[in-house]
Amino acid sequence: MAKGTIWIDSERCKGCDLCPTVCPQNIILMDNDSLNGKGYHSAMLADPENVCTGCAICAMICPDVCITVFRETRAPRSSAIPA
Ligand code: SF4
Ligand code: SF4
Repeated sequence: MAKGTIWIDSERCKGCDLCPTVCPQNIILMDNDSLNGKGYHSAMLADPENVCTGCAICAMICPDVCITVFRETRAPRSSAIPA
């Protein structure tokens, strides 16, 4: 399965709680222990086992474009070329 990760711009986040509901890996949480500069509990990534697939559903659902997705690039497969 593809590997990925995300970066959440916590200062832009308005704490709408949408992205945690759509992540298939359940690795986005709301940071209930702190507030950002706007006074919201922002979303945060909690992925200690690196299970993010880079599917980007979280980024697509975010109404404020707070989430950047990074995906692992794979080297192209070498294929045998018949002589
Ligand atoms: S890219 Fe996919 S797996 Fe990774 S945090 Fe976003 S929704 Fe979850
Ligand atoms: S969808 Fe966007 S604005 Fe809403 S909690 Fe997630 S990062 Fe924050």
